[in-house]
Amino acid sequence: MSSVFNLSADVPDIAVALVHHPVVNRLGELTTTAITTIDVHDFARTCAFYDAGPVYLVHPAAGMQSMVQDICDYWLHGAGGVRNPGRREVLSAIRMIDTLEDALADADYRLWYTSAAPPGEVMNAIEDLRDMPGPHLIVFGTGWGLDASRLPPPNGWLRPIEGIGKVRHLSVRAALAIYLDRCRRQ
Ligand code: SAM
Repeated sequence: MSSVFNLSADVPDIAVALVHHPVVNRLGELTTTAITTIDVHDFARTCAFYDAGPVYLVHPAAGMQSMVQDICDYWLHGAGGVRNPGRREVLSAIRMIDTLEDALADADYRLWYTSAAPPGEVMNAIEDLRDMPGPHLIVFGTGWGLDASRLPPPNGWLRPIEGIGKVRHLSVRAALAIYLDRCRRQ
């Protein structure tokens, strides 16, 4: 690992969740979004790159869960993993769960929500997590963002990633990569 990354052995454990329900639509109403294949691969690859995991995909629908199972089966047990053992390793971090609460049953995570426009609550810089004991669960939304009113109360919201252009919202994949890079660099 190069010297720009935390070398200390006690790098806090960071897990990541991508929530598809409960999220809000452009009218601020409760909705559910579909899981996209690119999110499955990119979240797994980016988390593997920054030594983060597990990667929780939150969706209550059985059809969506079986789609993720099919994708993972192909790479974990099928021809994909034979051809590309690296991807098999990466996708082994995927955990398909019904609700965010299911992830909290895995570990005593400190819970951090993210948004381009967080509600005016406690906000922490992502770098703060380096000095806090983990494990941490960083939660990303889809659609128009997390419906925090229907999610467990977080330890806080992470300060949004500020741009310099007119657009404030990143793709969720870009937001993941930027947060993890900032957290892992010294
Ligand atoms: N506009 C909504 C929002 O920011 O919550 C959704 C935007 S995007 C499609 C979905 C997710 O990407 C967000 O829920 C958040 O997790 C992440 N995201 C996007 N832009 C971000 C930013 N500038 N800062 C922090 N997180 C961001």
